[in-house]
Amino acid sequence: MVQFEHPPTDSEGPAGSSASANGDSTKKDRKSKHSKKRAAEGSKSLNNGSSHGHALAERRSSVSKPARDFRDMPEPPPKKKKKTKSSSSSQTAVAAAATPTETGEVSTRSPSPVIDFDGLSRPSLGTRERLDENAQQKEERLARMKGAVRTLLECVGEDPDREGLLATPERYAKAMLFFTKGYQENVRDIVNGAIFQEGHNEMVIVKDIEVFSMCEHHLVPFTGKMHIGYIPSNAVIGISKLPRIAEMFARRLQIQERLTREVANAIMEILKPQGVHVVMESSHLCMVMRGVEKTSSSTITSCVLGCFERKEKTRNEFLSLIGVNRR
Ligand SMILES: [Zn+2]
Repeated sequence: MVQFEHPPTDSEGPAGSSASANGDSTKKDRKSKHSKKRAAEGSKSLNNGSSHGHALAERRSSVSKPARDFRDMPEPPPKKKKKTKSSSSSQTAVAAAATPTETGEVSTRSPSPVIDFDGLSRPSLGTRERLDENAQQKEERLARMKGAVRTLLECVGEDPDREGLLATPERYAKAMLFFTKGYQENVRDIVNGAIFQEGHNEMVIVKDIEVFSMCEHHLVPFTGKMHIGYIPSNAVIGISKLPRIAEMFARRLQIQERLTREVANAIMEILKPQGVHVVMESSHLCMVMRGVEKTSSSTITSCVLGCFERKEKTRNEFLSLIGVNRR
């Protein structure tokens, strides 16, 4: 993961999330031993049949804080192995995550702590409560949020009862719930089986995906563009799913580094391509409006997995296609 400041860059005007995929899917060329490679990458570790999970778990712990929630920990070893090593198509992985196990309980979490198949994800129990709540609980949540916003208004010296502000607590509460709606989404529903065995093995890129996220340190937005590239291992994912995965992770409290990594890891896990490269450039309001007040700076983060990690040439091809290293 690389991050660096990149001061003189054009602050992008909104461009509708355009998708450009290079190449067409025609070639037939079977070689899906990629999972073996990842197995080699991940080192020894605790449990759970999938060596793939280990790789990601290892990676996570090396680049981020340890899990804050028990549900982010790797699952205990399954009673019976569900996945066979030989057929590692992504569909089976997705299906396995949804299928009840022998013991009758539904496995809702992926083997790795990186993505959640049930939408409840990280980082706390609150996300599960939020998803499961009924109408009355929803009302209560909204009321509490409104109270909090009212307090904020009072604390900044405003009169929350003046006309212009009367409905502000409710508006803000609802807006905040929207900004964080990604907590209630999950990768499995988003992908919804749109993984196709096309025998395609050339780089696929969706670039300039508009991203709006919330800085978890200041609760103000950071916005920018994400570029996602991957090299399939025969299977391709429906091209519109990539922006949707980005959106799901962006609509949570984030830091840009983690957002970038989570998107890359999710694609790696759901699709099992040869490699994934995600680059995000964005402008942070917490930096632009306060603090150092560098209005033209943009922050670039990058996450490379698989063959992108190993091959500089592949990385450079991606970077030149998305136009990052032209500047
Ligand atoms: Zn911030």
